[in-house]
Amino acid sequence: METILGIDLGTTNSVVSVIQDGKPIVLRDGAGSYILPSVVGFDQAGRLLVGQEARNQALLAPERTVKSIKRQMGDETKTTLGDQQYSPQEISAMILRTLKERAERSLGQPLSKAVITVPAFFKDKQRQATREAGELAGLEVIRIINEPTAASLTYEPHTEKNERLLVYDLGGGTFDVSIVQIERGVVEVLSSHGDTHLGGDDFDELLFEYVREQFQDEYGVDLSESPVARSRLLQAVEEAKKRLSEEAFTTIAEEFIATKDATSLNLNMEIKRLDYEDLIRPLLDKTIACVDAALEDAKLTAKQIDRVILVGGSSRTPLVRQILMDQLQHEPHLEIDPDLCVAMGAAVQGALIAGVDVGPVLVDITPHTLGIRCVGDLHGRYTNRLFSPVIPRNTPLPATRSEIYYTGADGQEVAQIEVYQGEHDDATFNEQVGELLLEGLADDAEAGSEILVRFRLDLDGILTVAAAERDTGLEKQVTLENAITRFRASSREEAKAKLAAMFSDSNAEAFGSESLLSAASPDAVGDDDGAEASLVAELLAKARRLLANAPSEDADEMRELITALQEATASGNTDRAVSIADQLSDLVFYLEDA
Ligand code: AMP
Repeated sequence: METILGIDLGTTNSVVSVIQDGKPIVLRDGAGSYILPSVVGFDQAGRLLVGQEARNQALLAPERTVKSIKRQMGDETKTTLGDQQYSPQEISAMILRTLKERAERSLGQPLSKAVITVPAFFKDKQRQATREAGELAGLEVIRIINEPTAASLTYEPHTEKNERLLVYDLGGGTFDVSIVQIERGVVEVLSSHGDTHLGGDDFDELLFEYVREQFQDEYGVDLSESPVARSRLLQAVEEAKKRLSEEAFTTIAEEFIATKDATSLNLNMEIKRLDYEDLIRPLLDKTIACVDAALEDAKLTAKQIDRVILVGGSSRTPLVRQILMDQLQHEPHLEIDPDLCVAMGAAVQGALIAGVDVGPVLVDITPHTLGIRCVGDLHGRYTNRLFSPVIPRNTPLPATRSEIYYTGADGQEVAQIEVYQGEHDDATFNEQVGELLLEGLADDAEAGSEILVRFRLDLDGILTVAAAERDTGLEKQVTLENAITRFRASSREEAKAKLAAMFSDSNAEAFGSESLLSAASPDAVGDDDGAEASLVAELLAKARRLLANAPSEDADEMRELITALQEATASGNTDRAVSIADQLSDLVFYLEDA
C-alpha cells in the first residue's frame, strides 16, 4: 500500500506524519526535531534556509526571511526575498518540499502523495492555494482537510463511533475553536470561531514587555532599542514561558545583554507563574468568548460535548486547562502532543482513504491526578483538607511539575507534605500515596514563607517528591514506588467512613493543620463549618453528572437516592442523610469505576 504523508502546514510550525504498523508516527529531522518552523529565508551567500536556520536569522535579517506565510495564502501579493519575488504558494512549497524530503530520508523511499490540513475558516481560494503549493513541491494532494477534523481523527480514528468534540487550538500566532461532529463515519465541523492574531507570540510579547519595563526601571536601559538585545530577550522569554508550563517560577538570565556607561549589564530576573498568568489572562478570556460563540453557532451547550481536546503548542499553558475546566466542566484532553496532533490526524485520514486500519494512538499518561493536601479554600470554606493538584490526570509521562505553597504559622518548624492521588477536591476522599516531612525550617521565618514542591513521575510510575524552603535552600526528597495504582476498594470504604463521620461530627476536622502548607498566602482565612454541606452538594453534583450515561436501572436508583438525600438534609435528619449518602456514594464509586 502506498504511503500517504499527513502534513500540518502551520503558521508557526509544520509537521509531517505517516502511518506505520497501524499507528501515526511523526518524522524527525537530522537533529531529532519533530517540528519544522514555518520560516523560509536566504543566507548572505544566497543559500535557501528552511526551518530553524531561517528562524534564527529572522530578527536580524528580516529582508531575507519570511515568517507566517500561511496568513497570505490565497492573496495575489508577492513577497520579496533578497532580489527575487515569490508568491505565498512558492514559499509554502519550500516548506512542503523540506517535509517531503525529510519523510523520504526517514523512510528511505520516494513519496509523492499527501493529505494537507488547513484551518476550518480557510476559504476556497486559500484551500486552492494550499493545493497548488503541494503540487509545486512535487506532491499529489489527495485531500485538503480541516485542522480540527484532523485533531479529532487522532483522538478518535474510528469514525463509526458517534461523538461531538470541542477542539481548542491555541498555536503561536492564531487561535481557533471548532465543534466537530463524528456521526456514522462522517466527520463534520459544525462551527468554528477564532482570532487570527492571538497566540503564544502575544504571550511572548507580554512577558517581554514585563521584563523590559523592570530592566529599564532598574538600569535605565530600554532592551527593545537594540535589535540584538530584543532578539535575545524574545528567545529567552519564550523559553521561560515554556518552563512556566511545568515550573511554578523560573529565572531569565542573560549575560552582557546591554551596556551602560561602558559597563556590561546582565539580566537576571525571577518570574512567577502566577504573575505570568495575570499577564495572559485577558487574552485567554478572549478565547473563551470564541468558545461560547462556537457553541452557540452549533446550537449546543457544553454539556452536549463529549470531549474537549487541546491542540497547538500554547495549549500546554496550565491556565488554559484550568480556565476550560471552569468554563465547560470538562476535563480537556492533552495526552497527544498538541504540536503533533494535527499532522497525525492528517496521516490517519490518508490511511482511511487508502483503506488501512488505524489503531488508537497510545500514550503513557497518569490515570489519576497527583497532588498534596493543604490548607485552603474548599467551596468557600477554609479547610485543611484541600487537595491541591500538582500533576493533573491524563498528563503524558514522564512529567515534572512544581507548585509554590506557603507556611501557615510564624516559626513553623516542619512542612508536612502528604501526597494523594484522586480527583476529589477534598484530599481525604482521595488515596494517600506517601508523605514527606521537611524539617528544620528557618526559626525566624514568618507565616507565608514559600515552600516549593516538585513532583516528577516517570514512565514506571515512580514518583519523586521534592520540597524546598525557598529562602534557605533547605531541601528534602522522597521516592514513591507504584504511585499510579488504581483507586483501591479499601480507600472507597475509608472515603465512605469519612463521609459518615462528617455528618455525625460537627467538629469534623480529622487532622491538625499547623505543619500543613497553605495553597495561598495566608491573607484570607475562614472557618470550616460548611464543609459537610459542600460535600453533600459535591456528591449530588457528581451523581447528577453520572446520571446521563448510567444504565437505566442504576439511573433510576440514583434518582431515588438523590431525592431522598435532598429531603433528608432539608429536614435535618442527619442519621438518614448519612445512610443515604453512604448508598449514593457507593453507587457513584461503582459507576465511576465501571
Ligand atoms: P504551534 O503554532 O502550534 O506550533 O505553537 C507554537 C507556540 O506554542 C509557540 O508560541 C510556542 O512558544 C508555544 N509553546 C510550545 N511549547 C509550549 C509550552 N510547553 N508551554 C507554553 N507554550 C508553548
